[in-house]
Formats: sequence, C-alpha cells, structure tokens
Amino acid sequence: MIVLVINCGSSSIKYQLYDMPSKKVLAKGLVEKIGEQISGLSHKYDGKKHEVELSIPNHKAGMEVILKTLTDGEVGVIKEISEIGAVGHRVVHGGEKYSGSVLIDDSVIKCIEDFCDLAPLHNPPNLTGIREAQAALPGVPMVAVFDTAFHQTIPAKAYLYALPYELYEKYRVRKYGFHGTSHAYITHRMAEVLGKPVDETNIITCHLGNGASMAAVENGKCIDTTMGMTPLPGLVMGTRCGDIDPAIIFYLLGKEEFKDYRDIDKILNKKSGLLGISEFSNDQRDLEEKAEKEGPESRAQLALDIFAYRVSFYIGAYMGIMKHVDAIVFTGGIGENGSIARSASCKPLANVGVELDEAKNNETIRGKEGEISTASSKTKVFVIPTDEEGWIASETFDLAT
Ligand code: AMP
Repeated sequence: MIVLVINCGSSSIKYQLYDMPSKKVLAKGLVEKIGEQISGLSHKYDGKKHEVELSIPNHKAGMEVILKTLTDGEVGVIKEISEIGAVGHRVVHGGEKYSGSVLIDDSVIKCIEDFCDLAPLHNPPNLTGIREAQAALPGVPMVAVFDTAFHQTIPAKAYLYALPYELYEKYRVRKYGFHGTSHAYITHRMAEVLGKPVDETNIITCHLGNGASMAAVENGKCIDTTMGMTPLPGLVMGTRCGDIDPAIIFYLLGKEEFKDYRDIDKILNKKSGLLGISEFSNDQRDLEEKAEKEGPESRAQLALDIFAYRVSFYIGAYMGIMKHVDAIVFTGGIGENGSIARSASCKPLANVGVELDEAKNNETIRGKEGEISTASSKTKVFVIPTDEEGWIASETFDLAT
C-alpha cells in the first residue's frame, strides 16, 4: 500500500510518500510560504531534488501541487493519485480523548476542532490539511496521529498541576506532553535494539532539537514528560525558555516596557532559550563554534551549559522515580548529532553510574544508531535517529488495512 504522510502547518505542508509495509520512502518534500507572493516547492525523489517557486495562495492549492508533483511524468513517483491507499496526518493535540491513532471520521474531526482551544497555532492548520486531503482524495482512509497520545498513560500525580482542581475540570488545565510520535518511535525501536518486548522496556528518551522534550518510559508506557499543557516548559530550547518561575511573568508585567501579556509570551516562546541567553543564536552548532572561539567564560558557553544542565537534571530526576532504567536514549537534531551536548549532559551523571565512551560518542553522528556508553556503565546510553514520519506511516498502514 502507498501511504502519504502529511504534516500541515499554518503556511507550509510537509509530505512523505511511503511504500508500506517496507517503509521505503518514495518521495518527500515541502510546500512553503503558502499565501505569500512567492511560495516554494521542494521535492526529493530517487536521490534527486526538484525545487520551484510558484504561487500557492492557500492550502487547497498546496495539496494540489503536492499531488500533481507526485504523479508528474518527470519528477513523480506514482502514475495516478488513486495509487495512494491511505493518508496519515500529524495532529498536535488530541486532548485527553486519544491515547492512540485513529481513523478519521466526522466525530474525530469535531474533537480535533474542540482541541483547537488547547493548541491554537497547530490544530487549525492540521485540520485544514485533513479537509484538503479529504477533498482531493475522496474515499481514501485518513488517520490522525497525535503528538499528545503517547503521554496519555502519565498518571494523575504527574499530569496534574497543584492548581485549584476546578481549573482541570472546567478548562482541562493539565500536563499533556508533546513530541509523542518521536518518543513512541524511540520506545519501539529501543525495544528492538535491546531485544525486549515493548511492555518490558524501561528508558529515558531525550528528544533534543530546536524544540526539546524528554520522557520517562516504564514498561513501554510514558509515566512523565518534560513539556506540559503547552510545548513551553521543561528543557531549554532554541528560543523557548523551558521551566521558569511562573511569578516572573507577573513581575515583568509590572514593568514599563511590558504592558501587554503578549510581549511576555513572545519573550518566553521566541526570544528565550539558547538564543535568549547567548544573545547570538538559537542553533547549537553556532554556539559550539562561538564557544570554541571565545572560551569557557563566553555567553555562548553559558547557554550550552544551561541547556546541558537541564537535560542532566531531568535524567537524574527520572532515574530517581523509575524502578529500573535499561537505557538513556538521545535523538533529535542535537541528540543525534551533538556529541558535545550528549557528553555535557551525561557528565554529572557519573555519580549514578552513567559513563560515556567518548570515542564512540564522537563517532556517532549524522543518522547513525548505536550505543555510546562504556561496557562498565551501569545504565546504557544510546543514540537512535528519530523517524516521526515513518511512525505515522506505520500507524496509518496498521489502521487502514
Ligand atoms: P531539529 O529541531 O531536531 O532539527 O534540531 C535542530 C538542532 O540540531 C539545531 O540546534 C542544530 O544546531 C542542532 N544540530 C544539528 N547538527 C548538529 C551537530 N552536528 N552538532 C550539534 N548540533 C547539531
């Protein structure tokens, strides 16, 4: 079966076409700057790249461009769109309703609509993607794969905030967690690597990228995660602050330059994290280069230190609450490539027996999977490249067949 995976954002649509169940990627690409004067299509197929500038006024036109490209005589990989057997959609928020992926029907669409309130930047474009795909591919089964689903096994003691309980009852204020597709994929892949059944796999997953989150996974089920009701708390990210004292917001609102809560929202989401501390870049690699040039007292180094400290802190906390940890796993752009960040995050954990093999750590970059701990390390440490689209394709194939 040919499965199309769609990740629809406010001004972009990412797509990936799979031959299932082999998981062979036939083509992948991105339509971006939808609604702007000049939009773009970037399409990869057969080891080649096709890039064009076009006018794509809306998501409907974006979906048409994708389907036309996939069936194009020169750069396409299928003859007819009727060859597409199912479509998998990334949907950010599934609220408390969905603890797994679902075949989309009218009631699912209604629920995704209801959860727009909880994810106002993400669920509306995700819904647009579903509607446009349904219009372009009538009768083709569509599956929603939620970022929040994997975290629905977190117990109430970990997902509830110590706020008046009625805020949870009235407004569903609680921890939901995100990056669930990545944490779920890593859990299943790690079970294979460890040679264990998924429901006996105990790991700490560290998805470190521009957005970053961790999950404590016990017996294959998530028992806690670092993101919360929104993707803002937890680890330090490219431009997001991660954990802060919530009273800072009210303190700043009293200052002359921050009259509007939206100014603070912008600071916490767009101007904080690695960028905020370094005042230079949100990108780990840029900061590593700058720290190398400017030395250990530089602000770039401070940003990297704060980032790594928060990762160590949560690994330590999760090791403390879990009955057993088979492995700590790094993934995401920084987790997969950043040997410096991995080393700095694991260093303070030597006192609980976590020991990296620095030679293996330095060699494990760019899509390589492998163990990076020493033979004597009490807890194994692995790098596993994440595959969120592949996970969505598998979920879609399973539900559509
Ligand atoms: P993602 O959001 O998962 O694409 O990850 C983006 C982050 O990965 C950026 O901060 C990049 O600087 C970081 N990254 C990518 N390659 C490397 C590398 N070789 N070393 C360190 N960080 C990297």
